[in-house]
Amino acid sequence: MMMKRKGILIVVSGFSGAGKGTLMKQLVHSYDNYALSVSMTTRGPRPGEEEGREYFFVSREKFEETIAADGLIEYACYCENYYGTPRGYVEKQLEKGRDVILEIEIQGALKVKEKFPTALLLFVMPPNAAELRRRLMGRGTESMEVIEKRLKRASEEAEGIEEYDYIIINDRLEECVPQMHALIQAAHDTPSRNLEFIENMRRELEAYK
Ligand code: 5GP
Repeated sequence: MMMKRKGILIVVSGFSGAGKGTLMKQLVHSYDNYALSVSMTTRGPRPGEEEGREYFFVSREKFEETIAADGLIEYACYCENYYGTPRGYVEKQLEKGRDVILEIEIQGALKVKEKFPTALLLFVMPPNAAELRRRLMGRGTESMEVIEKRLKRASEEAEGIEEYDYIIINDRLEECVPQMHALIQAAHDTPSRNLEFIENMRRELEAYK
């Protein structure tokens, strides 16, 4: 008997401006089995962002209350704001067998890896640094000061890339999305993500000894 396929956690990080947001939306839109977690943050909404779609926008006080109530799987401070992953949604979707995508920065990613050793960690990069700067400026939603901060942060984050399982170069979206999907599908078939199945097989084989 085949066992019911379990959902895995997929952590996606990448420099601000690398295009992860677009990539994730496209992935979830193109395939059935993904659920995208919506984070909680203390930063203000950008023009066009909607409460509950990009983020749950909350006060610092509310954020700290949620931490205290153990309502977050992980959280981190990024460029002076808090960001965290609400626990309830993630657990429910994993139970349903869906693959849950967390689009989070590196400190949070490493915490998730510690707590969930079978999480798959992907790091999205632009083809080069000049392209990153161009994309950040082109977005037109942040001040020059914020852009500078984010570029500085990118160079710090670049230090930790080896902790991830795969890098994804976000050059052409239409190639990137199926590539990412293929990586995730392959990850489902590693022994470490199928321990129960393997154990079962071993037990059944015992009978033939
Ligand atoms: P932005 O302000 O550009 O939306 O996000 C800034 C950074 O925070 C991005 O690298 C984004 O991936 C990360 N981020 C968003 N949500 C979370 C979260 O729940 N936890 C952590 N650790 N980082 C997050």
